[in-house]
Amino acid sequence: MFELDQIQVPDLTDPNFIPFWEGTREHQLRIQKCCDCQMHRWPPRITCRSCHSTEVEWVSVEPKGTLFTYTIVGRPTAKGFSSVPYTVGFVTLDAVSNVRIIGNVVDVDPSVIRIGMALEGHFVTAGPNGEMTLIHWSPAENGA
Ligand SMILES: [Zn+2]
Repeated sequence: MFELDQIQVPDLTDPNFIPFWEGTREHQLRIQKCCDCQMHRWPPRITCRSCHSTEVEWVSVEPKGTLFTYTIVGRPTAKGFSSVPYTVGFVTLDAVSNVRIIGNVVDVDPSVIRIGMALEGHFVTAGPNGEMTLIHWSPAENGA
């Protein structure tokens, strides 16, 4: 479905995202957690949206979630994504219900995809030289 070796590579040296990319390479989903109010947040940012603290740690969370919403892309718009249709989902993490992450939803026919379906994240190597690891979401084994 995807030409993973042609997907454009974002700035992997962006200091706000380095721990995330290190995590995916180790097949872990890491997000920020405020050291003061304990709120998890995504995408990464310097200050906490809740208490404005700059004290932050990165924590690993289980890559499981539910589909909050999605779109089916029917027209190729970017290098590496020439095979259509494909699905882009907005996934609410089971472990951290205030965090939603965007990712490709795979292994499910677009005609049967539905909001609320249980998803599991899988780590896939991508980029022209395999320089990054992405998270793709597919239906959870146990359904739900
Ligand atoms: Zn906070």
